[in-house]
Amino acid sequence: MRDKKEPVMTEKRRVTFIVNPASGINRSALDIITAFLETHADQLDSTVHLTEASGDATRFAKEAVRRGVDLVAAYGGDGTMMEAAAGVMHSSTPLLMLPGGTANVMAIDLNIPTRLEDALALALSPELTTREVDMGSIDNEVFLLRAGIGYEAEMSAQAARGDKSKKGRLAYFENALRLLRTLRPTSYILTIDGETHVRPGITCMICNSSGIGIPNLRFTYNSDVGDGLLDVIVIRDMRAGTLLKTFYHILRSLLPNPTENGGVDVDHWQAKQVTVQMKHRQLVARDGEPLKRSKRVSAEVIPAALRIVVPPNTVPAETESVDESLDRDQTPA
Ligand SMILES: [Mg+2]
Repeated sequence: MRDKKEPVMTEKRRVTFIVNPASGINRSALDIITAFLETHADQLDSTVHLTEASGDATRFAKEAVRRGVDLVAAYGGDGTMMEAAAGVMHSSTPLLMLPGGTANVMAIDLNIPTRLEDALALALSPELTTREVDMGSIDNEVFLLRAGIGYEAEMSAQAARGDKSKKGRLAYFENALRLLRTLRPTSYILTIDGETHVRPGITCMICNSSGIGIPNLRFTYNSDVGDGLLDVIVIRDMRAGTLLKTFYHILRSLLPNPTENGGVDVDHWQAKQVTVQMKHRQLVARDGEPLKRSKRVSAEVIPAALRIVVPPNTVPAETESVDESLDRDQTPA
């Protein structure tokens, strides 16, 4: 039965589905997708590819772009999304994200439904609503969410080795606490759009998305995935007191700018290009995937790298950020 509001499409939409069958807590994801495609076979002319190894999602997405499909849809976690994004990058083919990971950071940023059936339904919209989204690159490796150096990279690496499907978010927090006891702080020399800053720190993050996979909780609030800027964040140390203070400020959406940071051990800049030198060799990761240990990396934004399908009516016309509403409610004029 077709929803009455859904007009019949005269021509079938050609969609390539890229599915990471290892993703998600729910083993029936592939069944849900298959059933959806059967139900809507009159509207969608679809091809389904299953990924087996890293690099597959990028390859399938590139092939689909070359064939001139109308839409590439990817099911999986943040790693699969980064790969699919890299495949459609610099093309006019939009990407539909079908969130199947533990965090689904970009999906949350863009108000894409995390329930698979609801995200799938976006493929049926008579007119696809899309948003231009930036990507980043670090030493010529692209990322969709962020590059992490030090603590963040170690944390992602450990979480990736753990059983994410069973523990979900808990795995991240367990690893976070364990790592806090062992990681050695370093000193970062940052060249941010040509300006040099030196900061001691335990981690440096170069973020396209500053989301952490939990709605309304972010590393910084004045960032946007489509503003042509990366957010560079250094967290100086992670002693219990600092951690509490940092989270308090993140929760209160009051992450300050570096010139008036009021004793919070976090620095934040926005930049198109950044070079980071570390006193000690540290692990570098992009979108949670370890890349290498290094003492120097260089990153830049790739503005308007791709188009991502978003729900109609939720294109952030002028979405009010949480800190703006808090400022209004709580900050004296
Ligand atoms: Mg940005």
